Order: sequence, then structure tokens, then C-alpha cells
Amino acid sequence: VIHLEDIRKSYFIGKNELPVLKGVTIDINRNEYVALMGPSGSGKSTLMNILGALDTPTAGKYILNGHDVSSMEDNELARIRNQEIGFVFQQFNLMPRLTALENVAVPLIYAGISKREREDKARAMLEKVGLGERYKHKPNELSGGQCQRVAIARALVNDPSLILADEPTGNLDTKTSVEIMDIFGKIHAGGNTVVLVTHEEDIAEHARRIIRLRDGVVESDKMNAIKEIVAK
Ligand code: ATP
Ligand code: MG
Repeated sequence: VIHLEDIRKSYFIGKNELPVLKGVTIDINRNEYVALMGPSGSGKSTLMNILGALDTPTAGKYILNGHDVSSMEDNELARIRNQEIGFVFQQFNLMPRLTALENVAVPLIYAGISKREREDKARAMLEKVGLGERYKHKPNELSGGQCQRVAIARALVNDPSLILADEPTGNLDTKTSVEIMDIFGKIHAGGNTVVLVTHEEDIAEHARRIIRLRDGVVESDKMNAIKEIVAK
């Protein structure tokens, strides 16, 4: 699904170049579940933004589902973002004036389907993340965990193959984090590819593979021991 080859990214502050990603090469297959870890400032969010087609690399190749994203124009990037990728942020990034239902339906507007159909789909997604009852509420009337469920429903509504999440539990308490991680587990079990950034080893344990970045390069890339769940 994902092929990253020698990805480099520098930010330019005036004439000063700040190299952040210094040659990242990673392949991720369909239906993998990957945790991306590493110290603050190691380039995790920078890499996620490139994976999410929210930003473009300075150099290197990014192929997603056979499309060369690294050579795309803005309008093509927007299409890829909308149709092939679902992005979940630490800060939820919901629209404050819209209800949960309306927030979830936003990505469908570009698909050119009727309002009725958009609402039906959004409603089904909210049911899926366990928020069927609260569809009329606005973000400030929902808890952090509920807001993140809305954001996850929004990321899923266009049925993208790839779900990206940058510290999705970073603003949540432990109990709520576990609930949110259960949802990501279900998303993965349903056939999606999931890449998730976290600082916490407990959260990373949910993934099958852990990639660690340090100073803009891959420090390690390991499969996680699969925990046996014994039914009682
Ligand atoms: P954290 O764990 O704190 O979220 P991170 O691994 O996600 O860290 P990045 O956000 O990718 O790190 O940032 C990597 C480096 O790039 C940092 O030194 C940061 O200050 C710098 N940086 C990030 N975004 C920009 C930007 N838009 N302009 C300039 N510098 C940036
Ligand atoms: Mg970050």
C-alpha cells in the first residue's frame, strides 16, 4: 500500500534550512497496523503529514496504492486525501458550529451525493463508533473521547483504505484511550491499514509493528509479539 523511499523534508525559516526527515524508507502492506514512535521533534508528525498528503516531501518518493503522491499537483493531492486517506488528529479538528452528524458528513460533500444520503452514511458511521445517540450534539457538548469518536467516524466515512492517526489519545484519559484504541483495533480488523503515532508504549502494544524514528531517520522497525487472548 505504502512505499516511502528516501523521504527527506526540510523546513525553511528565512534562509535557514532545518532538515527534519533525513532519508526515511518504509514499506507498509495492506492491512498492517503500525505504531510510529520516537522522541519529541524526531519528525513523526512531519512524516504523518506527508503520508496524509497534507504536506509534500522535499525529496524522495511516496507511492500510495500505486499512485505517485510525491509528484502530484494540489488538486490530485486533495482527491487522494479525500478518497484514499482518513486522518485523525490529537486535537480532533472538528468544526465547532457543526453537529456531530454534520462534521462526519463533511468529507462526503465533495463526493457529490445527496444530503439525505450523506446524513444516512454519517449516521451509520456514528453508530459504528458507538455515538449513534449523540449525533445532534456540537463538539462543545461532547467529551474529549466522544469528540475523538466523531473525528474517527469522519475519517472513515469515505471508506478510505488507509487510516492515519497522530497521537489520537494524546488528549484523553487512560480509560477513554483504551476505548479509542479498541475502535482502532476494530478498524484494523475490518481490513483497513492503520498507522498511528503515540508516545506511550501501552498504546503501541495494540499495533503489530512498531517503527521508531530518531533525528529524522528510522531507528528501528520491529514486529510486535502478538498477545494471545485466551477466551474464558
Ligand atoms: P512531537 O512528539 O513533539 O509531536 P514530532 O516527532 O511529531 O514531535 P515534528 O512535529 O515532526 O516532530 O517536528 C520535527 C521538527 O520540525 C521539530 O524540530 C519542529 O520544531 C520542526 N517543525 C515542524 N513543523 C514545522 C514547520 N511547519 N515549520 C518549521 N519547523 C517545523
Ligand atoms: Mg507530533
